[in-house]
Amino acid sequence: MLKGKVAVVTGSTSGIGLAYARAFAKEGANVVINGLGDAAAIEKERSAIESEFGVKALYSPANMLKPDEIADMVKLAETELGACDILVNNAGIQHVAPIEEFPIDTWNTIIAINLSAAFFAMRAAIPGMKAKKWGRIINTASAHALVASPFKSAYVSAKHGIAGLTKTAALETATFGITVNAICPGYVWTPLVEKQIPDTAKARGMTEEEVKKNVLLAAQPTKEFVTVEEVAALAVFLASDNARSITGSMQQIDGGWVAE
Ligand code: NAD
Repeated sequence: MLKGKVAVVTGSTSGIGLAYARAFAKEGANVVINGLGDAAAIEKERSAIESEFGVKALYSPANMLKPDEIADMVKLAETELGACDILVNNAGIQHVAPIEEFPIDTWNTIIAINLSAAFFAMRAAIPGMKAKKWGRIINTASAHALVASPFKSAYVSAKHGIAGLTKTAALETATFGITVNAICPGYVWTPLVEKQIPDTAKARGMTEEEVKKNVLLAAQPTKEFVTVEEVAALAVFLASDNARSITGSMQQIDGGWVAE
């Protein structure tokens, strides 16, 4: 379905991003993966994508805190693979603490990685998409782009910001064959969720098991975590030609969370 396209996926060395990269590659797209982590583990994932799906996969070490490196990541796709047809802004981090104890550096870092990086990547990718009159921008937002939870001030602010950025970019690019959408997952079982359990337990005075049952899954009427494969399948659809009229949208995939 995506043969001949090139997808750049930020934060794709783990979790949802890795599932996106693998799903796009399975549909025939060449991919640029990106993210932090152990070099040997990243190389293993990169070469597995090439050998399993018969596509080209490059790794960009761009740090989402650095606008120049983000622009270089897009340039890598354009010069080595011919284009950046599909841009997925997915890198993200979380921190859980009450506002009055929230470290200032952590606030700045979360806004930079979870929001500003998407702006810098779009800024770099949109000219090439406009020239080709085709493009797909998919931002991994969150249910937290639509509703809040206590103790996640920076994350909720960044994700609400991504919702606004998505709508603005959709309006600016609508006549160029480019769509811009946000995917809003509920809780997906990934390292990001696993790592926040101890701090949430501390902030709420609960055991870790109670956090999983009474905080995380309590938010989702289905009482089940969303899977990374389900989120990736939605991204593949948004990248397809059948989704050309879907733009500026927030795609909830949250087991009914924000319906409550
Ligand atoms: P994850 O921790 O498994 O993956 C995060 C990725 O971002 C990793 O590849 C990491 O290396 C990368 N990253 C972090 N800081 C970076 C930096 N400075 N530069 C480059 N890459 C960096 O987490 P995940 O759960 O797969 O999260 C992916 C996205 O999905 C995030 O934007 C997150 O907010 C969003 N999300 C996750 C859930 C969930 O329940 N897991 C729910 C809603 C939204």
